[in-house]
Amino acid sequence: MIAYYLIIFLLGLTLGSFFNVLIHRLPKGESIIRPRSHCPGCGTSIRFYDNIPLVGYLLLRGRCRACGAAISVRYPLVELLSGAALLSVAVRYGQSPETLIFGMLVCFLIPIGVIDFHTRLILNRLTMPGIIAGVVLIFLLRPERWKDILFGALGGGLLLLFFAVLGKLLFKKESLGMGDVKLMILIGVYVGFPDVLIAFYSGVVLAGLFILGGMAVGKIRMGNSIAFGPFIASGAYVYVLWGDWMTRILFR
Ligand SMILES: [Zn+2]
Repeated sequence: MIAYYLIIFLLGLTLGSFFNVLIHRLPKGESIIRPRSHCPGCGTSIRFYDNIPLVGYLLLRGRCRACGAAISVRYPLVELLSGAALLSVAVRYGQSPETLIFGMLVCFLIPIGVIDFHTRLILNRLTMPGIIAGVVLIFLLRPERWKDILFGALGGGLLLLFFAVLGKLLFKKESLGMGDVKLMILIGVYVGFPDVLIAFYSGVVLAGLFILGGMAVGKIRMGNSIAFGPFIASGAYVYVLWGDWMTRILFR
């Protein structure tokens, strides 16, 4: 079992390195295959041993080998986050299809959440493949859950659409966008119904805590708007780890 967890963690670190490429390039509309990884400061290609997740950043002490430009701490953080998130899913679900299904979900939540946090964009180039991957995986591994997929996607989408319209009526400006709706559809595909409600609720609670905390330290004021995607994504992750007993408390 230790070997299994170690492999999952290393896989997570490596995927995290790939998510960094997505996070850096997708919002700018750049190709994710070419050119090879390079320093944004001086353009020097990054050597393969400097590109090893976490290790590379430590070897370089956070600076480009050629020009000395600082490398954003976001790179090792996203790698560590990806490794830890996948490991936690594997520990929670062991060697079962759910590890694969929820592992796949996490692989979309991380780049979508981080990109939304930085750019306020939820990209179709991530949500669409995420929805398709979820439908395919569940049909292959848990075909008896097909109704779940349908109602999860519908429920998640409609729920967010409702709040998007409500928000627009109340605040007279766009507080939730279609990207948030698509993200919730994606989550609904993987978690099903009524579980998608719990995932959403967890996200709302996390956003609420963040806003209260931000106001308490004076970083957020009334009228500020924040990206909701990272919170929806985190809420779905909370559901993946603890949804079981949340469902039991709320629905049974
Ligand atoms: Zn450089």
